[in-house]
Amino acid sequence: MVLRRNFLVALIAFAAAIAGVFAGRALLPQPSHTGAELHALLHEDFNLDAAQKSRLDKLELDFGVRKRALELELRADNARLAEAIEAEHGNGPKVAAAIDGSHMTMGELQKATLEHVFAMRSILRPEQTARFDAAVVKALTADTR
Ligand SMILES: [Zn+2]
Repeated sequence: MVLRRNFLVALIAFAAAIAGVFAGRALLPQPSHTGAELHALLHEDFNLDAAQKSRLDKLELDFGVRKRALELELRADNARLAEAIEAEHGNGPKVAAAIDGSHMTMGELQKATLEHVFAMRSILRPEQTARFDAAVVKALTADTR
């Protein structure tokens, strides 16, 4: 029983690791990691004026809601994957469908994150965008693993 649970946990961790690679390849910040760095940079180093700050707060609020919803969905996807693995004792059609489902959700999260990055960029003054772009490129190409 314990062995079986460990196996499930390992499989889920493995799936999550693949997902991480998938997310990293798709030209996107890992939302929890580089996204946070970009935010810190914007908030602390960019000398945003009051109007920009209030627009940024609104963007963060909207993105926060969307991101939390998708993260919950990902958790549900993982639960479905665990169920499918238990049901099929291997790599059957339910497992394949569950993996496809979680990739779809991850894709949604990636799209939402990228949209958010562009939304944040759109509030910047022209002289600020070059620096933001450089920070994005750095975040995307940083070797975080
Ligand atoms: Zn943001």
